[in-house]
Amino acid sequence: MTERRKKAIIRRRIFIALLAVLLAVLIALIAVIVAVIKNGSNTNNNNSSDISFVSSEQNLSEPDDSSSQEDTPSEPEVFVTPTGVELDADFGRLLLINGENALPDDYDTKVREYLVEIDPQYRNNNYVTQIHKDVYPYITAMVAAAQADGVDLRVWSPFRSYAIQNDLFQKQVNRVGGDEEKAATVVARPGTSEHNTGLCADFNMASDTFESTPMYTWMCENAENYGFILRYPKDKQHITGVIYESWHWRFVGINNAKLINELGLTLEEFIEMKNFDPAMDMYGDDSASNTAEQIID
Ligand SMILES: [Zn+2]
Repeated sequence: MTERRKKAIIRRRIFIALLAVLLAVLIALIAVIVAVIKNGSNTNNNNSSDISFVSSEQNLSEPDDSSSQEDTPSEPEVFVTPTGVELDADFGRLLLINGENALPDDYDTKVREYLVEIDPQYRNNNYVTQIHKDVYPYITAMVAAAQADGVDLRVWSPFRSYAIQNDLFQKQVNRVGGDEEKAATVVARPGTSEHNTGLCADFNMASDTFESTPMYTWMCENAENYGFILRYPKDKQHITGVIYESWHWRFVGINNAKLINELGLTLEEFIEMKNFDPAMDMYGDDSASNTAEQIID
């Protein structure tokens, strides 16, 4: 073999080897590309099947959950009492009446058409016998439930006219030697008493002895379920302006009462917390019915 032929054979072998390498690289490349495409389409499939299905499920279920939570308040929340009475838990009466927030002068006459007689089975006083019709189903259901529990709860003093309130106030003024300021911490002036609204009641004997009765214990445990709060608690006179009255309970609504008790607030503090100013916002939150006009409208 000549030197030239040997070189030619070597060159051809190198060429074939190079071609083989190139082919191998090409095949490898194609394999990689195919693998990548396959993989990609697989994960896409995964996404569109499993993951997107899950997420679409979540998308369906999540807004459903939240919307049903949002919907709940708009549907009346019903509390069924042990005696079978259905009460709307959302209904509220947050009208604030105290020494600084008096009722309008014409409230006393306008409220009359909204008053209803409390059936004698629920009360132990024939002198004052009426309550605001909005409160009637709640107070009667509460007294009936207490009586079903063997507790002799009775309404003593519900609605009082300005005239009756004035008599009580003047008697108290005389009792404390003419000091009207001092008298007002025990008996409110006409138009500044919750009793003038028809939204509250004193129970049984309207005296300090009420605190040590089973009726008071029952009220502390159950009154909020009927929308009533202890309006003038111990150690809150600096806020309410009224001495501790274990017998005086005010209707605010079931959900309001539960929240007020949970937060440990007076009505003054609760309304302030809601950033409601009765003087500034006479026709504010109608769901709460905060104004005197709304109570007799
Ligand atoms: Zn009272």
